Amino acid sequence: MFLIIVCFYQCNHYTSHNVAIIQSKHSQNKIKTDLPMDSIINKIEKTDEQWKKDLSPEQYKVLRKKGTERPFTGEYNLLDAQGTYYCAGCGAALFTSENKFLSNCGWPSFDKIIAEGTVKEVIDSSHNMIRVEVVCARCDGHLGHVFDDGPTETGMRYCINSVSLKFEKDNIK
Ligand SMILES: [Zn+2]
Repeated sequence: MFLIIVCFYQCNHYTSHNVAIIQSKHSQNKIKTDLPMDSIINKIEKTDEQWKKDLSPEQYKVLRKKGTERPFTGEYNLLDAQGTYYCAGCGAALFTSENKFLSNCGWPSFDKIIAEGTVKEVIDSSHNMIRVEVVCARCDGHLGHVFDDGPTETGMRYCINSVSLKFEKDNIK
């Protein structure tokens, strides 16, 4: 992954507003960066003050300030119930339990998003690492990071903070 991203920088193919496609080393899967979905998604925009009021201090820290919850402490890390995971910031549906797997990394992990365009993926070079950050396409809330070392057939591992999510159980009739 590192080499692939370095190549993108060197080749100057990546800018924060352009669509960049990073080839997965595992398969033909591609990570699309900064998907041009803003125009068709009903964007939620609030002032920092408003977010502070609407979110819990922990949610604000992770979603708006790109914080990370401590590993193995999140509410949904080990959850194995059927249902849907929504963005805790805006309520957009992001993941389903069908795509959740136990990765032992300490955060809820998914191998696929619920539908294309629901999240945006952007290069994150903080903490002396180059990673792909995952943000909610609707409210730009920080969710976590995505890696291409997933154990399932998609090859992807969306490593997401529980605090950024709100789980709703399926209604089983
Ligand atoms: Zn959101």
